[in-house]
Amino acid sequence: MTEQNPNQNKKCGYVAVVGRPNVGKSTLLNHLLEQKICITSRKPQTTRHQQLGIKTAGANQIIFVDTPGIHQAGKKFLNRYMNQEARSALHDVDVIVFVIEAMKWTEEDALVASLLEQVESPVILALNKIDRQKNKQALLPFISSLEKKVRFNELVPLSALTNDNLATLENIICQYLPYSEHIFSEDEITDRSVRFMCAEIIREKIIRQLGEELPYELTVEIEKFDQNDKLVTIDALILVDRDSQKQIVIGEQGKRLKSIGSQAREDIEQLLQQKVMLKTWVKVKSGWADSERALKSFNQFKAPGFSE
Ligand code: GDP
Ligand code: MG
Repeated sequence: MTEQNPNQNKKCGYVAVVGRPNVGKSTLLNHLLEQKICITSRKPQTTRHQQLGIKTAGANQIIFVDTPGIHQAGKKFLNRYMNQEARSALHDVDVIVFVIEAMKWTEEDALVASLLEQVESPVILALNKIDRQKNKQALLPFISSLEKKVRFNELVPLSALTNDNLATLENIICQYLPYSEHIFSEDEITDRSVRFMCAEIIREKIIRQLGEELPYELTVEIEKFDQNDKLVTIDALILVDRDSQKQIVIGEQGKRLKSIGSQAREDIEQLLQQKVMLKTWVKVKSGWADSERALKSFNQFKAPGFSE
């Protein structure tokens, strides 16, 4: 990316939003992007893939990357992969927004902070959920305690939920963007990111419906996405680990899959503002969590311009 582009003063860059599960990253992105792109949930870890959202405002273009929940190095391959992925994403971005909850500092936050020590991109510390804080004075000692715990260039107390201070955050992000031509046209939402959003919506519906019955190791692949001015036709493949899980997702006489499908379709129609025909299948991919295929579907959703 070019550092200087004095002719137009345009700025453009990649911004990673990091933080432990449940701090409000998806909510923050949704509100910054003013549309429902990311999936929020009370259950941690519904966000597994990197997500791409683009915000173009005047001379500035911010390309957001929502990294997967960064958590303690897990025993499973997928968890290790997510951590590697998070680390490599952090190396490449222009700005990192590190989201934590006001008045709360956990071991998982400390783990993210230690990842940030390994990279050089500027860090904006976002103190989220200040709407819960009746006494704002109480924030001051908490804020000063953070200086010893985490490397940051800027600190912004905010509420992703009530939009409090989000404009300030956006302005500060833009200060750190490099001068560059915009990578995307103003109204661009890439086909790839729309596919990704659809897959995430379906995943969210499955997780909401099945709760604890199913581990989160399931993946949704969009096999077909055809859009014309009347209708969007989507074929989605749900991949699970075991045959027993397949039965759970499908449910008695296919009832559960049907209801997952119709709920997902409603949300996708809302997102695309168009009529949607959604077909879903469930397949068992034994040991997929360790397979090349999982990596492939993961990479499919990476932001353009990102290297390993
Ligand atoms: P993520 O796992 O970091 O992506 O977190 P989510 O965006 O899914 O948010 C987790 C939960 O925190 C959800 O129930 C959100 O509604 C809630 N939340 C997010 N931001 C705020 C905030 O600013 N204030 C309050 N009170 N709740 C929030
Ligand atoms: Mg999330």
